[in-house]
Amino acid sequence: MFGRAPKKSNNTKYYEILGVSKNASQDDLKKAYRKLAIKNHPDKGGDPEKFKEIAQAYDVLNDPEKREIYDQYGEDALKEGMGGGGGGHSEFDLFENLFGGNPFGGGGGPSRGRRQRRGEDVVHPLKVSLEDLYNGTSKKLSLSRNVLCSKCKGKGSKSGASTKCSGCQGSGMKVSIRHLGPSMIQQMQHPCNECKGTGETISDRDRCTQCKGEKVVQEKKVLEVVVEKGMQHSQKIKFPGEADEAPDTVTGDIVFLLQQKEHPKFKRKGDDLFLEHTLTLTEALCGFQFILTHLDNRQLLIKSEPGEVIKPDQFKAINDEGMPVYQRSFMKGKLYIQFTVDFPDSLSPEQSKALEAVLPTKPTTSLTDMELDECEETTLHDINMEEEMRRKQQAAHEAYDVDDDMHGGGGGQRVQCAQQ
Ligand SMILES: [Zn+2]
Ligand SMILES: [Zn+2]
Repeated sequence: MFGRAPKKSNNTKYYEILGVSKNASQDDLKKAYRKLAIKNHPDKGGDPEKFKEIAQAYDVLNDPEKREIYDQYGEDALKEGMGGGGGGHSEFDLFENLFGGNPFGGGGGPSRGRRQRRGEDVVHPLKVSLEDLYNGTSKKLSLSRNVLCSKCKGKGSKSGASTKCSGCQGSGMKVSIRHLGPSMIQQMQHPCNECKGTGETISDRDRCTQCKGEKVVQEKKVLEVVVEKGMQHSQKIKFPGEADEAPDTVTGDIVFLLQQKEHPKFKRKGDDLFLEHTLTLTEALCGFQFILTHLDNRQLLIKSEPGEVIKPDQFKAINDEGMPVYQRSFMKGKLYIQFTVDFPDSLSPEQSKALEAVLPTKPTTSLTDMELDECEETTLHDINMEEEMRRKQQAAHEAYDVDDDMHGGGGGQRVQCAQQ
C-alpha cells in the first residue's frame, strides 16, 4: 500500500505514503503518521528508507504552508531552495518531537539526545591603529548581551509551562514563498515571528515578571580584547560562547574583527612596512640624513652612504624594522622606503653654469647654424599626464559608442579601445 506509488501526479505521493485522503485533517495526518512511524521505525526492525519517506511526507503535509506548495506544485517545488532536505531537521527529530523522545527507549540506534540549536555569532568590528598592531595592546569593551533569565531559568513562565505556538505549530519556523516566474517558486524558511522561533507561547498570567516572558534579560559585560603584536587587518579575535544566550541553544561566539585604521606615514603589506620620503635634489645628489620616529616611538637615524646618489622612485630597505611576525614577534619584516626627489622648478643662468661645471658633460655640444636652419621650432607645454590620458580615454570611448550604434560594433575596435 505504501510501496512506490505509480507515477500519476507527483502531488499525491505523500498522501499515499501516509495512507490518507487529500483532504485529510491535521489530526488525521498525525494519527496516520504515528501509526506508520511506530510500525516502521528502524529500532523495531523497520526499513530505514521507508521510515524516512514517511517522515518526509508528514513533515511536509503537517506544515500548512508546505502542504499548500506541495498540493499546487508537487515535491520538486519543495526541494528547491531547501537544499533538498527537510530544512535542517531529520526524520528522527520529527519523531522525537511527536513522541517527546524515543519511545523504544535505550535501544541504541539513532537516539542521540536532543540536538541543540547553535546561536548566532556576534561580530563586532574593532578599529585599531598600526601602532596597536605593532606594539600589541588590550582594549576593554563593554557590551550588552542577552542572558537566560535567572528568575524563571529561561522558561519565561512562573509555572514553567508553555503551550505550542499556533503560528508555526510549534516548529518555530515559518515558510515564505516567493514567485520567481510562472512556474518557479522559491521557498525560504525563517523563524516564526509570533513565538520568535521558540515554537511556544506563554499565557499572560503565567508570564515571568523579571523577563516578561522573554526568557532572557540584558546584561552588561566587559570583555578585554587582547590585540597581539603582528595581528593583521580583518583578523578575528573570538570569545567562545559569549554571544546572546537563548533557551535550548548553544551560545554563539563574540567575534571581534580587527579593522586597521590608515596610518599617516606607514603602509603595511603583510609583515613589511612601506614609507615614502621626499629628498631635495641636493640631498639626493650630495647625501642626506633624517630621523624617523617608528611605531614604538624609537628614533631611527636614516642616512645615505658617502658619495651615494638616490634616484627618483628608488627603493631602499631596512631589515627587521617592519611589522612583528604574529606569534613570533621577535621576528620582524622589512621597512621599505621609497624616495621621491624634489627637483627645483628653475635655475638662474649662474646656477646652471655652476652646475654644468661639476656635473658630467652633456652628450651633444652645440648645433651648427646650418643644422638649426634646417629644423622647425617647437614649443614644450606643461601638461598633467594623468589628466591627458583620462581625456583621451574618454574620447576613445565616445567614438567607440557612436561606432557601435552605427555598425553594430566590431571586436577589433573593442580590443584596441581596451589597450589604450
Ligand atoms: Zn524570567
Ligand atoms: Zn511560532
